[in-house]
Amino acid sequence: MEFVDRELTCVECNKTFVFSAAEQQFFRDREFNHDPKRCKQCKVKVSGARGVRVETLVKCFECGIDTTVPFKPTGRRPVLCTSCFKKQPNRPQTESRSRNL
Ligand SMILES: [Zn+2]
Ligand SMILES: [Zn+2]
Repeated sequence: MEFVDRELTCVECNKTFVFSAAEQQFFRDREFNHDPKRCKQCKVKVSGARGVRVETLVKCFECGIDTTVPFKPTGRRPVLCTSCFKKQPNRPQTESRSRNL
């Protein structure tokens, strides 16, 4: 699956901003099924105002270095640092989400 840069309009300031291929990949990996609504500047403003920036320090499953992720790992799937993540050729999506005990 190839991602291409897309232009979106910020709901906050109405300016267009680029939703880059890398960001789309990131969103996909995090299973975010929506597009970002705000440009980076507005996002910083919003999250700064709420003070709810979740950053969890984790160890990379692959190489063991410390890395931070902007979400809380569930422990059900291994967390990888950016470089190890990029090394993965293709990630099997066989781990079903319905396995919810
Ligand atoms: Zn904006
Ligand atoms: Zn790693």
